[in-house]
Amino acid sequence: MTKRVLICGAGIGGLTAGLRLRRLGWDVRLFEREPEIRTAGAGLNLWPNGVRILRELGVGEEFASISTSLSRYRTFSSTGEVLDVRDVRTWSAQFGGVLAGVYRRDLNRMLADALGRERIHLEHALVGVEESAGGVTCRFSNGQVVHGDLLIGADGIHSVVRRSLFGEREFSSDGLVRWRGLFDLADTDIDPMAEAEVWGPDGHFGYLPMGKGRAYWFAAGEGIVDDVEEFFARFGAWEGSPVPGLLRATDRPTIIRNALHDFVEPLEKWCSARIALLGDAAHPMLPGLAQGANQALADVSALGRALASGNDVPAALAAYQEERIPAVAPVVRLSRSLFDFESENHDSSVGSGNPLFARYERYVEGVH
Ligand SMILES: Cc1cc2nc3c(=O)[nH]c(=O)nc-3n(C[C@H](O)[C@H](O)[C@H](O)COP(=O)(O)OP(=O)(O)OC[C@H]3O[C@@H](n4cnc5c(N)ncnc54)[C@H](O)[C@@H]3O)c2cc1C
Repeated sequence: MTKRVLICGAGIGGLTAGLRLRRLGWDVRLFEREPEIRTAGAGLNLWPNGVRILRELGVGEEFASISTSLSRYRTFSSTGEVLDVRDVRTWSAQFGGVLAGVYRRDLNRMLADALGRERIHLEHALVGVEESAGGVTCRFSNGQVVHGDLLIGADGIHSVVRRSLFGEREFSSDGLVRWRGLFDLADTDIDPMAEAEVWGPDGHFGYLPMGKGRAYWFAAGEGIVDDVEEFFARFGAWEGSPVPGLLRATDRPTIIRNALHDFVEPLEKWCSARIALLGDAAHPMLPGLAQGANQALADVSALGRALASGNDVPAALAAYQEERIPAVAPVVRLSRSLFDFESENHDSSVGSGNPLFARYERYVEGVH
């Protein structure tokens, strides 16, 4: 009999998990609490580890058509000094994927179409989960009750599935925020094929193209930069760097501010016999390595492999968490490092280039 998987959450983790399991022959039903697939948020930076998994899922060509494959990664100081220029075109051969920028809305739309909209049930907010030896039952706020052989909790940082398995978790509370905004490449003179970071003693600013002539920036500052005018005053003063020009080119209504959190202590388990967590539900991380969505894709790939191995569901979930928990731990830890502005800036000033690449190669790709 066809096995039934229930997936909660139609973010990048849930949508790609649906694609993966559909390809394994499972009957996939995906439940999302919102009335539409997430359209908020700016762009997303996918690294080769994430892009090659999209290819594995059979959507590599569609992804290439909606995103920008980047050629260079530039690093500047806040006074405009060029600290590093990395040619990233070789990453395709080296890591099996490109460095890319994409509009979140376009990516989610593409994934939902690939999965099949008829499998996605909107306005289904999960409120209760029960597990038995033979399966799992989900209850939704609209009164629906659904049974399956496996439940995947891809319901993000405040996961209801996680709470039902492991109770409440303590989040970091350092008050970190990240600002983001959108602009048109045509309104600036930046390299349209490059991602860039600009480092100052009291903050960090990055930007990248994301397809169709659009681009976005992201920024975080030492201390709590809470107010948009305060934000503009701080980063607008980085004269000599590309930052003041990008802020002038920004569509003001597109500017958003997000509070950032990870766990005080990581989860020791992600699964029970028939329930698996993935993505932010399992391992929320700060965006310092731009790996949150990439790691959600890595979870999907590992879970797919484990379920394809012929093991029964409980054994496959045990194998999945055994592989992924130790792999993601250093990525979560290092994702905090970018927010230590003083030491990151010091690294650049002593000429070590951008430490991001060595961290990516070592802790994400396992190159020693
Ligand atoms: C400022 C910022 C910048 C970032 N930049 C990057 C980047 O450049 N690259 C990168 O790889 N990562 C980045 N990330 C991280 C990335 O956004 C996340 O890791 C990724 O979106 C996680 O995907 P997910 O599917 O696990 O969860 P989400 O995208 O959060 O999706 C969860 C879904 O579950 C739904 N849901 C929640 N509760 C319920 C419920 N009870 N019932 C049903 N549905 C529910 C939600 O509505 C949502 O649609 C960034 C994060 C932040 C905050």
